[in-house]
Amino acid sequence: MATLAVDNRFNEFGTMSFTSVTRVNDFIGYLQQGRIMGSRCKKCGISFFPPRADCCHSLDSDMEWFEVKGTGKLLSFSTLRFGPTGFTQGLPYTIAVLDYGDYKIFGRIESSISEAELHIGMEMKTCPHRLTGGHVDYVFQKT
Ligand SMILES: [Zn+2]
Repeated sequence: MATLAVDNRFNEFGTMSFTSVTRVNDFIGYLQQGRIMGSRCKKCGISFFPPRADCCHSLDSDMEWFEVKGTGKLLSFSTLRFGPTGFTQGLPYTIAVLDYGDYKIFGRIESSISEAELHIGMEMKTCPHRLTGGHVDYVFQKT
C-alpha cells in the first residue's frame, strides 16, 4: 500500500507551531533559504503577511509569492515578562508590529535590542532567524 507523503514543513516554524499542514508551506521552504515571503493576489493585488492561499477580497486563489524587502515602520511593541505554555523560553522578549505600507508584520524584536532602543516610527527590517532544534522564524532588527 502506498503511503501519502505529508508536507508538514510548518512543524519547523517558530518556538512552537500549531499548524503543520497548510497550502502555504513553501513559506517555510523559503525561510529555510533565508527569504521571508508573503503572498499577493494576482487579481486584486492585495498583499498578505503571513501568506494566505486565498484572497479574502476577491475570493480568488490565484496567488503569487513576494519577498519582504526593505524596512517597515515600528507601529507598536510590547515586552512580555510572562508567556503562555511553549513561549516562556527567552523571557522577557518584545513583540512588535512593523508597517510595510501594503501589509503589516507581527513578530519579535531581536533579543539583543533593549526596549530603551525602540521608538514608535523607527525603521526596522525583518530578518530570517534560526532557533535551536532546526526551527526557523524571523526577527525584527535595527537598520
Ligand atoms: Zn484578490
